[in-house]
Amino acid sequence: MRDSMEALLDAHHLTIYIVLFFGTFIGVALLEAVAPLRRLDASLRRRWRGNFGIMFVNTALIWLVFPGAAVGTALAAWAADWGLLRRFDLPYWGAFVLGILLMDLCRYTEHYLLHRVPLLWRIHRVHHTDLDFDVTTAVRFHPAEALIMWAAKVAVVAMLGVPVIAVLVYELIYPMTTFWVHANVRLPAGADRAMRWLVLTPDMHRAHHSIVPAELHSNFGGLFSFWDRLFGTYTREPAAGHLGMRIGLPEFQDHRHLDLKPMLMNPFITGEKS
Ligand SMILES: [Zn+2]
Ligand SMILES: [Zn+2]
Repeated sequence: MRDSMEALLDAHHLTIYIVLFFGTFIGVALLEAVAPLRRLDASLRRRWRGNFGIMFVNTALIWLVFPGAAVGTALAAWAADWGLLRRFDLPYWGAFVLGILLMDLCRYTEHYLLHRVPLLWRIHRVHHTDLDFDVTTAVRFHPAEALIMWAAKVAVVAMLGVPVIAVLVYELIYPMTTFWVHANVRLPAGADRAMRWLVLTPDMHRAHHSIVPAELHSNFGGLFSFWDRLFGTYTREPAAGHLGMRIGLPEFQDHRHLDLKPMLMNPFITGEKS
C-alpha cells in the first residue's frame, strides 16, 4: 500500500502538482471575483501582469532547470540512509508526521530570516511591495529568493532525511496553501478562529502584508499557524482592521513598483519615503 502510494505520487507528482496549482489558483480567483473582501487599489491588469511576469521568470529558472530536486534529494538521502530522522528508530508514519512538521518549521525559520537579515530582506521585500493582496501576490517573489529557497529546501530535505512521501505531500500542498492564504476573501469569524488553531488563514497572512512594521514582521508561518504562537511572532488582527489596514511598504508606494522591471531591480534600489 505504502509502496504503491509512493510510486503513484512519484510517477505523477508533476501532473498532480500542475492540476493542484492551476485548480487552486482558479478556485481562489473565482472566490475573489464573487466575494472580494477589499476593493483593490491599483489596476488589476497592471498587478497581474507584473506578478505573473515574475512568476514566469521564477518558473523558467527553477522548475525547468532543476525539476523535482527536492524529491530527488529525498530519494537519494533515503536510499543512502542519511539525515536526522534516520538516526531514530521511528515508525514510518512517525517519520512522515515529523518530516512534515520539521519542513514547515524550516519554512517558518527561513521566512523569519528573510525579514531579519538586511541582505535577505532586500530580496524578500518584493513580495511586500504589492499594494494590494490577492491570489497573485502568492507568486510575487524575486528570482534570487526563489533560488535561495530552492537551495534551502534541498539542504533541509537532505539534512532531515524526510521520507519521500512526506516531501511529495508537502510539495503538493504548497501551491494550495500559498494561494489560499493570499485570498482577498474573508472566512466567517468562527471558521477562521477554528482553522487558525492549526493552519494559516487569509486573515492571518494578510496581517503580515501590513505597512505597520510590528505587523509586517510577524505571522511568518507557511502552513501551520502554531509556530508563530510558539515563538511569540503572532499577530491576531491588524490594528486598523482588514478593511482599514494599508498594504505594502512605505518607501515603495509608487505604482511603477508593480511592474516587472522595477520588481527585478528592487534589491538594488532604495525606495522613496512617502
Ligand atoms: Zn514576508
Ligand atoms: Zn505573502
